Amino acid sequence: MDRLPSSNRFWPSLAALVAPSFGVLGALAYLHAIPWVSAVLAIVATIVATALLLKRHLAALARHAKRLDELAKGEPPDALARPADGGASAPIAEAVARLERALPERVQPMASEAALESIVDALPYAILQIDSDERIARANAVARALFGEGLEGKPLVAYLRDPDVLDALAEALAGAYPEAADVRLAGSVERSLRVRAVPLPRGSGSKPAALLAIADVTTVQQAERMRRDFVANVSHELRTPLATLTGFIETLQGPARDDAVARERFLSIMATQGARMTRIVTDLLSLSKIEEAEHTPPSGRIDAARVLAGTLDALSIAAKAKGTTLVPEIAADLPPVLADGDQIAQVFQNLIDNAIKYGRPGGRVRVSARVAERTPPGFVARSSRYVEVRVEDDGEGIAREHLPRLTERFYRVDAGRSREMGGTGLGLAIVKHIVNRHRGALDIESEIGRGTTFLVYLPVAETAPATA
Ligand code: ADP
Repeated sequence: MDRLPSSNRFWPSLAALVAPSFGVLGALAYLHAIPWVSAVLAIVATIVATALLLKRHLAALARHAKRLDELAKGEPPDALARPADGGASAPIAEAVARLERALPERVQPMASEAALESIVDALPYAILQIDSDERIARANAVARALFGEGLEGKPLVAYLRDPDVLDALAEALAGAYPEAADVRLAGSVERSLRVRAVPLPRGSGSKPAALLAIADVTTVQQAERMRRDFVANVSHELRTPLATLTGFIETLQGPARDDAVARERFLSIMATQGARMTRIVTDLLSLSKIEEAEHTPPSGRIDAARVLAGTLDALSIAAKAKGTTLVPEIAADLPPVLADGDQIAQVFQNLIDNAIKYGRPGGRVRVSARVAERTPPGFVARSSRYVEVRVEDDGEGIAREHLPRLTERFYRVDAGRSREMGGTGLGLAIVKHIVNRHRGALDIESEIGRGTTFLVYLPVAETAPATA
């Protein structure tokens, strides 16, 4: 606890106060103007009276000092501990009381300003306070992340020169509430921004100011575009077989009603188109199911070698039909992987099926599995070991520019050829989402004229007892 000022000031103060009377009384006694006894009595009386008075004043001063300390620390007044003040320090008591009353009015705005700044910094929008001369007065954390540091004092036009934004700002500075403006921000990655300008309330006599609230809507717009494209693609994929089916139904009901040969041929085409629609719908449903579970990785301990052997078996008929030789190269001591057995079977099935479809007729498809020596560049490995499954064909290969888009829904290098071979354009999208759910990686290497290799990396199940 702090020592009160009274305790160490008392004796020096008392000495200073009584010393002059000592001198005067001593001199008078020395000159025999008063008797020595009177002088001594007067001195003792002076000391006692001065000590009593001094003690009282120093105690009052100590209390005021304590209260000022409390005010400085922001502590509430302790009414019980504060005795009523009178006497010589009454003016000080009144001054302290005045200060106590006035302080909240001065301190509160400062505290709420700091709190407001923290709140504005925590907002997910970029917030810019703009002066009447269209310069940035203040910027929050998101704004600094978006436009860079040192924004204060710079003209807004140095960062946002879109006429719609500048018009909106001018309107807000004039006191209006304009519509939000959508702008694109050029840079290494183009961003879409929605900018809303609002006037700031101004105190009497101060110049107008405005606030710009800027939301980064890049991902929202991308998702919206993807949704629109997806709906358009699904409609397009289903429209063709549906149109074929209705066309043939009309023909069979009309001109070909009694033509048995035509009927057989048309029914066969209709069955093919019906099967195609079924495949598209099945793939779409399977894709949405995989996406739904994508945030929960599988926990099964799966023997990838056994799953691969089963898939190769199932596809041997399709390979034979095309004259393709399937060449399995599966490491004998392959560790189990952390996986969902049905889903990785679907990955292997889609990749090997593609390799047969797009590989050279009479060619070879090599399917190998081993513990990976490396994972693809840029992949953040969360497991210490991965099993690498390679599906390698000797087909025409895929041009480099198509590689990053191959796993998009309905993306095909040659749409006609894919449809001709019964493809839905969804196989690789399914592969990508399953691999993502497994926290694995997918890599594609291809060279025109030499063939394509798909590489899948699945995390090794290091511990836990076998479940499959
Ligand atoms: P699809 O049903 O069309 O085969 P996928 O999603 O499985 O759909 O594949 C998308 C596209 O990627 C295919 O249309 C094809 O152009 C290309 N592709 C996939 N695998 C191979 C491969 N092994 N060789 C060459 N091109 C391939």
